[in-house]
Parts: sequence; C-alpha cells; structure tokens
Amino acid sequence: MTSILLTGGAGYIGSHTYISLLEAGYTPVILDNFANSHPAVLERLQAITGRPAVCERGDVLDTPWVEEVLRRHRIGGVVHFAGDKAVGESVAKPLKYYRNNLGGAVSLMQAMENAGCGTLVFSSSATVYGDPQSVPIAEDAARSHTNPYGHTKLVIEDMLAAQRVAQPDWKVAVLRYFNPVGAHPSGLIGEDPSGIPNNLMPFITQVALGQRPHLQVFGSDYPTPDGTGVRDYIHVCDLAEGHVAALKVLLESGRSLSVNLGTGQGHSVLEVVRAFEAASSRPVPFQLVPRRPGDVANVYADPRLAQELLGWRATRTLAQMCADAWRWQSRNPTGYRTA
Ligand code: NAD
Ligand code: UDP
Repeated sequence: MTSILLTGGAGYIGSHTYISLLEAGYTPVILDNFANSHPAVLERLQAITGRPAVCERGDVLDTPWVEEVLRRHRIGGVVHFAGDKAVGESVAKPLKYYRNNLGGAVSLMQAMENAGCGTLVFSSSATVYGDPQSVPIAEDAARSHTNPYGHTKLVIEDMLAAQRVAQPDWKVAVLRYFNPVGAHPSGLIGEDPSGIPNNLMPFITQVALGQRPHLQVFGSDYPTPDGTGVRDYIHVCDLAEGHVAALKVLLESGRSLSVNLGTGQGHSVLEVVRAFEAASSRPVPFQLVPRRPGDVANVYADPRLAQELLGWRATRTLAQMCADAWRWQSRNPTGYRTA
C-alpha cells in the first residue's frame, strides 16, 4: 500500500491521522523533531494499532535528509503538519514562525521536487479568513491575516499555488481546519499543550481536573446569542478522517483542492462549558472577563465543498468531543509525561 509521510506526525492532529491512515490501508511514516511532542506517543500508537510506529526523527528544515527519507520509504504522498502554531508566540517571536513554518514548507517542497513526489496535503487553518465578513465561511471568502502565524498559513497556501503552476503534475490539498478538539476514544492519545493552554478545550479539561481554579471566559458582550465567542469545534478523529479522504482524492483522481474542515455548526464558550460539565460530571467554574485582543465573535464553516469534493463530513457531536477530551485528560493528568 502507498506510503505516506506525516511531517509533524507525532503531534496532536498528526498522531490521530496516523491511526486513520493505517485503518484505511496506507503505510504512514512519521517525521518529527519532537519540538512540540513527546516520543511516548509512539508507544501509545503501537498500543492502539498493534504495530510498531515507524518514525524518522529529524527536522523538516534539513532538505537533503527529508529527500533521503522520501526516497528510502518510497513515499507516495505527504501530509505536512510540522510547524509552530501558537498565535501569541508568533506575535512575540515572528522570525521563529517565518523560519520554521515558511522555511519548513520550502524545504519540504524542495525535497519532494528532488525526490519526484508531488502529492501533498497541507494543514492550513480558518485563520486565513482573518475577521470574516459573514458566516458560515465558504472557501471563496476573502483571505487575510491578523498575526504572523496566520500570515505563514496564507503565504504557504500561495506558495503551493505557485508550485502547482510551475509543476502541473503536483496534486495539492489545502485543508483549512476550524477548531480541532477531543481525542482518540481509547484515551491513549490526545492534545498535550506545554505550559498554560491557550485554547479553550485543554484549559477547560485542566479546570475540571482541579489543576486550575477557573476558566476565564474572554468576552461576554459579543453579538452572539449568549454574548460569548462562537467557534466551529470539530472532533480530531473527524479531522483525521478528512485527511484520508483528501489523500484518496489526490491519489485516485489527481484533482487539487482547497476545502474547509469543520462541522458547519457554531458553539459558544458557555455551550462548551455546559457540554463539558455534562460529559465529565465535574464543575467548570468560570469568570467572565474582557475580550481577548485579536479575537473575533463568530467563526464557523460552510462545510459543503468538502462533502462534495471529498465525500467526507464531520459526524461526531460536541458531547463526544467533550467526553473524549475528558477521557484523555483524566487518564493522563500530565499528558505524555505520565508515560
Ligand atoms: P502540534 O504542535 O501538536 O504538532 C506539530 C508537530 O510538528 C509537533 O510534533 C512538532 O514536534 C513537529 N514539528 C514542529 N516543527 C518541526 C520541524 N521543523 N521539523 C520536524 N517536526 C516539527 O500541532 P497540531 O495541533 O497537531 O497542528 C498540526 C498542524 O495543524 C500545524 O501546522 C498547525 O498550524 C495546524 N493547525 C492546527 C490547529 C489546532 O487548533 N491544533 C488549527 C488549525 C491548523
Ligand atoms: N476562550 C476563552 N477562554 C480561554 C480560551 C479561549 O474564553 O481560556 C474563548 C476564545 O475567546 C474563543 C473560544 O474560546 O471565543 C475559542 O478559543 P481558542 O483559543 O480555543 O480558539 P480560536 O480563538 O483560535 O478560535
């Protein structure tokens, strides 16, 4: 079966996609420098799949080495997850983001061109829509950026478009993720942020565990039904299956595409808090505080193009997202460091 390279495959979304690819009959190979992940994830993947995880440890910026990995494993397609992803850090350290995200994408694409592999799925983000004019957001909405992280996603999308013009045999899927949450139902792998979580769901799970006293709800005066921010939360296993569907289209039909991966349904912060309390049977105390700078009110996807082009749609509910996030966090209170 086709071997697929997952750059950043030891991370949160990559590790879940590894399982979905294996289940679909592909041979996934992880490439990761573990800058933001833990090698213990490899044992967890083995426990879930019953097979040793294949992993190449190294940096995507090392073009000759990536080319050698592509050739040695006879890679037929690549999913590019590797990169830095913290919005706030990208404002404080923009060069880190331009170097790792833009430099990493250039390096990978050069290695792929050298090795004769032109099939690529790229982890983009709803952040490329900036502050959207209206919701739901369709793929032809205007793109913009409000921070260096978002800028890197936008530029990489443009770099991929330029490469497709230069190399018409390249097949590229740009996947714009909305808000990935949840974990594999085994409770063995999940999101393991270092330090204080920036994102809502990992913060809530740590509050429910008693590791933090309360959640700060950023803004209660948005023009939304309960005044708190609305986002399109998507279960990470649905997202993983979206990658498999995209790869299939690239490998079988040769058609390039850019699609949203979301559910099409928005949930407010308070709705997520209530759903999490129900799933965990734990209280999640919160305080309403002023808006977080740079946040927008209402973001959710128009998911129809993904359904049309990939034959894929998200099926898991907010209740499942919360139950699975809780199973992972309650069994692994300190993430992979308990392994
Ligand atoms: P993650 O940090 O858990 O995974 C990224 C992985 O890439 C980590 O294992 C890290 O060690 C590795 N990595 C980073 N730089 C590398 C390098 N130079 N060489 C080799 N490996 C390197 O992040 P994630 O949440 O799994 O996100 C994966 C991708 O999806 C990222 O590109 C991110 O920007 C994008 N994305 C994530 C979200 C989200 O909310 N999690 C939303 C939209 C888009
Ligand atoms: N949020 C919050 N408290 C937190 C973290 C997030 O109220 O500690 C809110 C945030 O303002 C937004 C939603 O939760 O409305 C999702 O935020 P997250 O950072 O997870 O995703 P993003 O803002 O990137 O969509």
